[in-house]
Amino acid sequence: MIERCDEIERASLYVEVENARTIAEARAALATSGTTECIDCGREIEPKRRAAMPAARRCIECQGLIETEKYHR
Ligand SMILES: [Zn+2]
Repeated sequence: MIERCDEIERASLYVEVENARTIAEARAALATSGTTECIDCGREIEPKRRAAMPAARRCIECQGLIETEKYHR
């Protein structure tokens, strides 16, 4: 009986660990494979742009703004 309880506890702990791992993996995948939304304005980055620059984090408008700012400073 005690062993059985222990087994269930271990099983639920395993599920928790697995869930945490799945969430962490999903976050890591999102961080490395590029997001579909611009980190500045939150609009979707054009699929064409993402295909050309998988690491792009900003839409072409925001990227352009940043590059213009840099250029003028
Ligand atoms: Zn943007």
